[in-house]
Amino acid sequence: MNISEIKEELKNILTEKRYDHTLGVAYTAACLAIVYGEDMEKVELAGLLHDNAKCFSDDKLLKKCKKYNVKISDAEMRMPYLLHAKLGAYYAVEKYGASDEIAEAVSYHTTGRPDMSMLEKIVYVADYIEPNRNKAKRLPEIRKTAFEDIDMCVYMIASDTMEYLGTDPENMDEMTEKTYLYYKKLIEAKKEAK
Ligand code: FE
Ligand code: FE
Repeated sequence: MNISEIKEELKNILTEKRYDHTLGVAYTAACLAIVYGEDMEKVELAGLLHDNAKCFSDDKLLKKCKKYNVKISDAEMRMPYLLHAKLGAYYAVEKYGASDEIAEAVSYHTTGRPDMSMLEKIVYVADYIEPNRNKAKRLPEIRKTAFEDIDMCVYMIASDTMEYLGTDPENMDEMTEKTYLYYKKLIEAKKEAK
């Protein structure tokens, strides 16, 4: 599918609010691509596709993941909404014809992961800061940091996400914590090097 066909399909399957968010992520990601020298089209496509499986109920997500052999972690069993990322990655390739690189960015857009590629970081950050978002704390600061130091921005988002989810391990995918710990270390190492 080309970009306009993908937009048309997403407009049909997502709620209006989710579709607006999707466009917000795609355009914000494209802006970040300018700053960090990523391929604009690739980044826009990843942004468009990141929530393509957000239209399914928990039940449907579980069923479809089983059907397509998408691996389900313990955390995803407890919180099936997390699966919209992995199922979305599956559809990115199988339905929308995207590359594996884009599928990875879709797959980790919610939890992040240690040592993300620039594309993955851009989608992770854009999902959090796009213009329709307004609930997270210190958004103005995080938005500004996104365009100045993307690793620092990933760290800020991961750390606020950890705080928001609380210390209850039942509430958290372990990848979220791994992301947080990796970027915490990275930021500390960068500070020391200065
Ligand atoms: Fe999402
Ligand atoms: Fe999203």
